[in-house]
Amino acid sequence: MNTTPVIAIHGGAGTIAAVAPNSASAQPYRDALHAIVAAAQAALLRGASALDAVCLAVEMLEDCPLFNAGHGAVFTHDETHELDAAVMNGADRRAGAVAGVSRIRRPVHAARAVMEDGAHVLLAGAGAEAFARQWGLEMVEPSYFSTEARRQQLMQALATDRVALDHDGPPLVEGSKFGTVGAVALDMHGHLAAATSTGGMTNKRVGRIGDSPLIGAGTYADDATAAVSCTGSGEMFMRVVAAYDVCARMRYAGQTLQEATDAVVLQSLPAIGGRGGLIAVDRLGNLCLPFNTEGMYRAHARGAEAPHTAIHR
Ligand code: ASP
Repeated sequence: MNTTPVIAIHGGAGTIAAVAPNSASAQPYRDALHAIVAAAQAALLRGASALDAVCLAVEMLEDCPLFNAGHGAVFTHDETHELDAAVMNGADRRAGAVAGVSRIRRPVHAARAVMEDGAHVLLAGAGAEAFARQWGLEMVEPSYFSTEARRQQLMQALATDRVALDHDGPPLVEGSKFGTVGAVALDMHGHLAAATSTGGMTNKRVGRIGDSPLIGAGTYADDATAAVSCTGSGEMFMRVVAAYDVCARMRYAGQTLQEATDAVVLQSLPAIGGRGGLIAVDRLGNLCLPFNTEGMYRAHARGAEAPHTAIHR
């Protein structure tokens, strides 16, 4: 009891070309990040678990059309939506995830249900949707996820034949590259948790699954080390097993959170062309939010201190 709680959230990384620092266009993102991190902070201060806090933050990010998860998710090449999400509880390393779903309103709830159910860790496609229905989760028509801005991004990506990360800039418009959302938290009881949710990458091939729902790649939490949620070019995050590598470096090499996250984001990922960033908190409450792109939508709050939001470096 009585650890100072810490919460951090991200809304994706990229060049963020259309959102100039301190510009009016940045304000809606800042407002959304601030409101969401403040809600999770308040929950933690009331004694909520890290698991509940990251799920709350991610469900709010999923509902916000500015970010590429839930409502506002990007389109696949075939103009459909396929969403991925994961959650992990650091205290006992239970984890749950769903991949390639298009009818579950809040995929993070389905990931949580898979974890609570306990029989499996990752469910995909129609089976994941049937499971969510059985659990009484809110289901929607796939068109619920569509927004006009995302459709424009797909049209641009199709024109240039690119698979794009939300929030990268020209030749794709703002928001067309990495926009995955995630949260990590340390609660009053000293426990860690992480959650990630995404529509994936604009113009991705149908059936493509990214790093976000893969435990160890895009999402990981272990009370012995850290909680990590990633955003970026998923294929490279999978190849370096990014989230787990942060924890492994701390555990086996004795690296600090800062050393471990810098090594992954500034060395291992760029070495294979990986772009993006991550948010991570360790069991002592240290927080690192490194990225190798121009920006990453992010916010954090420690104890009862006022939340910080940032987009650019
Ligand atoms: N990492 C996500 C994916 O590859 C994309 C993102 O972070 O925006 O599916």
